[in-house]
Amino acid sequence: MMEQLKVIPFGGLGEIGKNMMLLEYDNTGIVIDCGIMFPREEHVGVDVIIPDFRYLKKNQKKLKAIFITHGHEDHIGGLPYLLKQINVPVYCSKLAKGLITNKLKEHGLKNKVTVNVIGAGDITQVGPFKAEFFSVAHSIPDAGGYIINTPVGNIVHTGDFKIDDNPIMQQFTDLDRLKEVGNEGVRLLLADSTYAEIPGHTQSEKIVEETLHKLISQSKNRIILSTFASLISRIQIAIDAAEKNDRKIFVTGTSMVNNVGMARQLGYLKIKADTIISKKEVNNIKPSKLLIICTGSQGEPNAVLTRMAKGIHQIIDIKKDDTIILSSNPVPGNEMSVASNINKLFRLGANVIYNKMENVHVRGHAAIDELSIVHKAVKPELFAGIHGEMRHLFLHKKLAIKNGVKKDNAFVLENGDILEITKDKSILLKNKIDSDYIFIDGKGIGDIDEEVLIDRNELSKDGVVVCRINYNYKNKELKETNIFSFGVIKDDLIDDFHNKIIDNIENYFNKLNSERFIDIDEDKISDNISLFISKDIRRRPLVLALLVK
Ligand SMILES: [Zn+2]
Ligand SMILES: [Zn+2]
Repeated sequence: MMEQLKVIPFGGLGEIGKNMMLLEYDNTGIVIDCGIMFPREEHVGVDVIIPDFRYLKKNQKKLKAIFITHGHEDHIGGLPYLLKQINVPVYCSKLAKGLITNKLKEHGLKNKVTVNVIGAGDITQVGPFKAEFFSVAHSIPDAGGYIINTPVGNIVHTGDFKIDDNPIMQQFTDLDRLKEVGNEGVRLLLADSTYAEIPGHTQSEKIVEETLHKLISQSKNRIILSTFASLISRIQIAIDAAEKNDRKIFVTGTSMVNNVGMARQLGYLKIKADTIISKKEVNNIKPSKLLIICTGSQGEPNAVLTRMAKGIHQIIDIKKDDTIILSSNPVPGNEMSVASNINKLFRLGANVIYNKMENVHVRGHAAIDELSIVHKAVKPELFAGIHGEMRHLFLHKKLAIKNGVKKDNAFVLENGDILEITKDKSILLKNKIDSDYIFIDGKGIGDIDEEVLIDRNELSKDGVVVCRINYNYKNKELKETNIFSFGVIKDDLIDDFHNKIIDNIENYFNKLNSERFIDIDEDKISDNISLFISKDIRRRPLVLALLVK
């Protein structure tokens, strides 16, 4: 049989998050990225979601390396969970290593895993694969993609990217290298689809620089700026603008403090030694000479900006005329909490500026024109979109066909699909590999499934009613009944509500007693009570009837 390359996505296709891709040839497998996904509303109580590692675990002898494109959570967050099960070397850029090392520490894996630093142009040979890292522009420094030479041809994996002609930290997407490899011949292009529905060209970070410099130089008041803790280039812009206007900077929020500290240490952030001030000094500095950089741009419940908006921050009270800049975009799912923070901050008298008003944020992913530039540079024979929901993957496929990929050679892959590529053929197999959502809640990994989530959803809708029924079988006598309810009705109506349920239970037993055969069953009693409550108040709480005999 002819040897074939298997391309198997385990995450990020048909969803935004938990990106992970396996390339397998003969007895060697390499993984690209291993991210987490943040839970959606229906994932009640879930902390994070990771990819399904069962196939990798079963084939762990084959797995030889993990290549990371960049340090965002949806690309590195799942690593500790995978490395706990399978210990393989990781290859990544310097900044990504800093972020990964923090994670490994948290999970007690610090000295147990090898993390190798690679830079643009470096080639790593793993069995039949030669993986070359190339730089891309994205919303975190040191981001890249991979050109992977395999026995069936070159594969290009873009990672997350945009094309920025004026990047703040000189991080360009290496189109020259992509053109070069395109001329050599590329078998398969796997490209970021996040913004495959957005026409035109994503704006440059330069625009944000101009806006932030303008806002910071014009303000006569205290400025509080909130952004993603990993958006190092944005933090650099804020630092430059503050220093230019003689403002001191106070950095606050755990992830912001950690990332700024690490980025300074590794040389990514340039900041004068006396610019940063401590907690003690923050309230002694003239408001016009202060910039606070903090977490909370996504409305996270415990983050600094959220606590300020609620008026419960330990040291900073929002004052009238404070200028607050949200240099970010709400990630889908966070829109409501972000809007709620903005409303609260306005009510406290602050002057809030967010991305609908001014260019205080630009996106980090390529729009249609940039995707086309990459398609035309790489000129792949085969194409599959990665990193996107279904609609993004379909639109990206259409675009690739428009840009020259043959119709039968453009694929929409889903998690668990197997794309087999030989020297002269490619085929999307009919069978799939298991790739479920693995939910993490507290210490539990994978001990929650869809059924548990259905129960949690039910519980969260109309509450719970528990009825403890004391029944004497011998005398056919109903003794005491106690009702407890949670989340069904407010306190001053609760006695009345419980009494009605007790009446209903008594009627039910009286009816039973008048019949010849008594068949008392907790489920039937529960159903009867549910029916009564639904008729009475049109609610469907979870009802548990417990018979005490
Ligand atoms: Zn990213
Ligand atoms: Zn991403």
